Amino acid sequence: MALTGVQIFKLLPKTNCKKCGYPTCLAFAMKLAQRQASIEDCPDVSEEAKRTLGEEAAPPIRPVTIGMGEKAVTMGEEMVLFRHDKKFFHPTVYAVQIKDTAPEADAAATIDEVLASEMERVGQHLRIDALYLSNESGESAPLEALVKLAAEKAPGFPLIIAATDASVASEALAYVEGSKPLLFGANAENLESMCRLAREKGASLGLVAKSLEEASELTEKAKAHGVEDLVIDPGARKAGEILRDNTLMRRAALKKNFKPLGYPILTPVQRDDEMLETLVATVGVCKYSSIVVLSSVKKWKSLALFALRQNIYTDPQVPMQVEQKVYNIGEPDGAAPLMITTNFSLTYFIVAGEVENSKVPSRLAVMDCEGLSVLTAWAAGKFTATKIAQFIKESGVENEVANKELIIPGYVAILSGALEDKLEGWKITVGPREANAIPAFLKSR
Ligand code: SF4
Repeated sequence: MALTGVQIFKLLPKTNCKKCGYPTCLAFAMKLAQRQASIEDCPDVSEEAKRTLGEEAAPPIRPVTIGMGEKAVTMGEEMVLFRHDKKFFHPTVYAVQIKDTAPEADAAATIDEVLASEMERVGQHLRIDALYLSNESGESAPLEALVKLAAEKAPGFPLIIAATDASVASEALAYVEGSKPLLFGANAENLESMCRLAREKGASLGLVAKSLEEASELTEKAKAHGVEDLVIDPGARKAGEILRDNTLMRRAALKKNFKPLGYPILTPVQRDDEMLETLVATVGVCKYSSIVVLSSVKKWKSLALFALRQNIYTDPQVPMQVEQKVYNIGEPDGAAPLMITTNFSLTYFIVAGEVENSKVPSRLAVMDCEGLSVLTAWAAGKFTATKIAQFIKESGVENEVANKELIIPGYVAILSGALEDKLEGWKITVGPREANAIPAFLKSR
C-alpha cells in the first residue's frame, strides 16, 4: 500500500524550512503522497528516509523500453488516472502487424509504409512506432526471415516478435540481439522457456493472460524467473472489455500500489473491418494502452489515431509552443513585411497559414511568451513593448529588413506608441485583429 501523507511527514525533518518550495513539511509530504513532488527537493532529508521514500516514489507502472537509438520508445511510468491531475508521460505506441506467412515483397512494402508513416502536426513529428512480427506459420524459418528483413530495413526500430514457442523464436531473436525487442506471447504453458529466451537475448517479455488474475500470477512468476521488463496483454478484445480491464489495471497499480499489475498494457485491435479496428484502437489510446497493434498502415487511420494520441498526451498544464525565432514565409527580400506574434502553437500555425495564403513573402517574428496567445500574453505582462523591443533587437532581424517596419497584432494596438519609443527608428503598424484578415491586409499594402 502507498504511504499516506502523514506517514511520509513522519520521515521528514519537520523544520518547515521551505527549501523544498512548500510552506511546511506537511504540505510537502502531501504532495509527495500525491506523486506531485520529488523527495530530491528536500535537501535535509536523511538517507534512510530517502531510501524508504525512493522505493515509494518508484513509478507504479514499470518503465519498459523497446528499440534502440532515436526511434526507441518507452512505456509505463504513468502516475495518474486522469491527465488533468498531472499529465500522461509516454504516448501509446502504434505497432503494425506483419505475418510471417506474408510474401517477402508484401512484408517489405509494409515495412516501407511504416517507415514513411511520419507526418508533422502542430509542430510535432508523429508516426507508427513499432512493427509487430507474428509467427503465424508456426515454423522458425519464416519468422527468422521476417525479423532479418525488418532488422536490415529498419535497424534499431522497435520490434515486437510474437510467438508462443521459444524454440521457434530463438533464431529470429538472434538478428535483433542488443536492439531491445519485445518477445511477446508468454503464457501459463510456455512461461519458463520464454523467460529464459528473453533473458538470454536481452528482450523484454510480453505476457498473454486470459484474465487479470492470471496476468498478476504470470508477472510474479516471470519476476521469479528473472525477467522484470514485462508488458501485459490481459486478453480483452472487445472495446468494453478493454475499457474495463485497462481501467482496473491502472487503478490497481496507482491507487492500491498493486505491483503485479503495474506494467504497460498491450492491446491487439486488428480486425477485418478497419473502421471498427480504428474505433477500438481509440478506446485503448484514451484508456491506458501502452501499445496498440493495428493490422495495416492507412493514411486516414494514421491521421485519426495520431491526432487523438497527440491530444491525449499533450501536457494540459503546458501550452503547446513553437521555437522563438524569426520565420521566413516564402522567400522574403529586404522589403518584405515583418509581423510579430506569440509562440502559442495554435496562434503560430493560424497566423503562418494566413500569411502563406496571402502569397506575400514575409517574415514572422515569433516571441517566446510561454505558449500564451497574444491577448493572454499581453494581459500577463509577457507581450509588452519593452519585451518585444528587446526581442526584435536581439533577433538580428534589423540587419535583414530595409524599411524597419514592424506589424503588430490588432489586439495589441495599444502597444504601438510605447513600441515606437522603445524601438528607435522603427515604424510600428497595427495589423488585423483576426488572422483571417491577414491576406487582404498584406495584399493591400
Ligand atoms: S525542505 Fe524538507 S525540511 Fe524543509 S520544509 Fe521542505 S520538507 Fe520540510
